[in-house]
Amino acid sequence: MANKRVLVKFSGEALAGEAGHGIDTKILNYISQEIKSLVSAGIEVGIVIGGGNIIRGVTAAQDGIIKRTSGDYMGMLATVINGIAMQEACEHAGLEVRMQTAIKMEQIAEPYINRRAVRHLEKGRVVIFAAGTGNPFFTTDTAATLRAVEIGAEVIIKATKVDGVYDKDPNKFSDAIKLSELSYEQALSDNIKVMDDTSIALAKDNSLPILVCDMFKKGNLLDILQNGNMQNCSIV
Ligand code: UDP
Repeated sequence: MANKRVLVKFSGEALAGEAGHGIDTKILNYISQEIKSLVSAGIEVGIVIGGGNIIRGVTAAQDGIIKRTSGDYMGMLATVINGIAMQEACEHAGLEVRMQTAIKMEQIAEPYINRRAVRHLEKGRVVIFAAGTGNPFFTTDTAATLRAVEIGAEVIIKATKVDGVYDKDPNKFSDAIKLSELSYEQALSDNIKVMDDTSIALAKDNSLPILVCDMFKKGNLLDILQNGNMQNCSIV
């Protein structure tokens, strides 16, 4: 499937590794190799990374000292920190990368310009979309869905630690059942919550398929996108 365009969303926590916070360069290195395998197969890759390993707006604002809007801006800046790290790791892996931010900070990255992003992708460059949507009260899941729709990605990949979506938390319940295929309505239900409601609604409105897959299984992303092996993922 040459020239397939995808948007991969990683949570900030995924970068933290065993420490649970900060950035683990071994994980960055692993992710960049996985991304490289996609690019080498002719797949155009956009990336959105969360910021939860550094700070989340809701947590920053929980005792009322920091306003929610300010906490959210702190969260968006956290995604830029992660983005810089991801950019370095991808370059270290030999990839061409550009980062674009939803909040202007031109000494660090390009501002988000849709047509420019698409051009980078066409040239085989990985594009990292940082600073979320640029607006408080949104999440990086929503930012990822928005960018996926904007760049015309065929699918958004939510890269997680589990091999798909379960009817309940598989880490807590041994009888949890994997749902290989589910509807947007199911994805919105409280016990499943593939992504937040805003992002699922946006995906649904634009008929954007959501793939939830295990990013720690080496080669899984490529196997799904190139060979259609859906064993270690679920599709909405
Ligand atoms: N954020 C925001 N607007 C956006 C995207 C993110 O305000 O469009 C803030 C929000 O505070 C969020 C934080 O950035 O908690 C980090 O993003 P997220 O929680 O989505 O990261 P993840 O859970 O994926 O690591």
